[in-house]
Amino acid sequence: MKPNLVAKGADRYVVGKIEKFDQKNEMWKRAAWDPAIREGGRKYYAWYYGAKMPEEKEGYTLKELAMVHAAWHIAIDYGSGMFTGGEGLEAWEAKPFGKTDTTRIPRGLKYEFKDTAEASKAVKRTARLFGASLAGVCELDRRWVYSHSYHVMTREHKPIEIGEEFKYAVVMAYEMDYDGIRQAPNDIAEAAVTKGYSQMAFTGAMLAQYIRGMGYKAIPMGNDTAASIPLAIEAGLGELSRMGLLVTPEYGPRIRLSKVATNMPLKPDSPIEFGVWDFCMKCERCAHFCSGQAIMYGPPSDKVHNISNRSGLHRWAVDGEKCFGFFPKNDTACGVCIRVCPFNKQPGVLHDWVRWGVKNTRWLDSLFVKVDDLLGYGKRAKLDEFWKS
Ligand code: SF4
Ligand code: SF4
Repeated sequence: MKPNLVAKGADRYVVGKIEKFDQKNEMWKRAAWDPAIREGGRKYYAWYYGAKMPEEKEGYTLKELAMVHAAWHIAIDYGSGMFTGGEGLEAWEAKPFGKTDTTRIPRGLKYEFKDTAEASKAVKRTARLFGASLAGVCELDRRWVYSHSYHVMTREHKPIEIGEEFKYAVVMAYEMDYDGIRQAPNDIAEAAVTKGYSQMAFTGAMLAQYIRGMGYKAIPMGNDTAASIPLAIEAGLGELSRMGLLVTPEYGPRIRLSKVATNMPLKPDSPIEFGVWDFCMKCERCAHFCSGQAIMYGPPSDKVHNISNRSGLHRWAVDGEKCFGFFPKNDTACGVCIRVCPFNKQPGVLHDWVRWGVKNTRWLDSLFVKVDDLLGYGKRAKLDEFWKS
């Protein structure tokens, strides 16, 4: 009998004990301390120190490199969600007047919602007003909160403690530019991704201020503090895929995720299921085109590749060492898996019809993959196609 995946939420992938994950073991952090990948890390992080030079190569010149840095600007210079969180736009509390994160709302006020449904509607609609493409609500399941944070620049390694009163999370997805991602793996695709990080800091900070302004507490988080994907699954934004990313019905994997934890009583959304798991069983396109051979072929398993994978999960674990290993060779990040995924489509009548087919006629999945190939979806676009788009 088919298990009720919707009722199970993120637990549909859990087959063992979930230990809290130490973010020091995430690939981006390991690049700072793990001797096995330190050299590649140094080369890749040259951009952070302003030491990455533009190249003659198409898609990697100063015109595109400047776009990458501009796209990082809010996240790197004003946020902290790429590192440990808790500072700048991602500060955990509003500060007194005069600081960047003051609310300017008189203290002691509290907005009483009629019920939790009204409160959820208010925060989700406001999240979209502030720039989120999608927003959902879930309970903050503590299994997905990291045990420690790790700062790649200062090497500070700290335990993470979030008060029990933070029972809910508002999870937000941000669409990445379709024509930008069609350039992957060059610097334009990287700018489409890094703009997502800045959007996470910008929108998360404003949503946290909105919640605080109504008299509640809020902790905005980028990639820091808790794993975004299981929370997004719980909040009904999408499903896990072969490439290890969340796939949403609206934008496929072409999104970035952030979240705001709060003590505001909210009504959680229901998880969804629209055929991603079954489709990935037949597809394997991301594995075939993966620049670093980091994505698994075949059925999902409990296998882990290295300390960057959590155990206790039945899924397609991505080998982060191989994925990250490609970035220094490419002189920028990658994103090819997102580009080639058949779920990476712009909204439109035809594509909405295909999405309906994927959800309702699973026996046609192999055909959909073949047709997608024949129509040339997922092919890398020429550079001038981006500038004309
Ligand atoms: S980003 Fe590139 S190297 Fe990494 S998993 Fe995707 S396709 Fe593979
Ligand atoms: S490319 Fe295919 S196998 Fe990979 S995540 Fe997308 S649908 Fe799944």
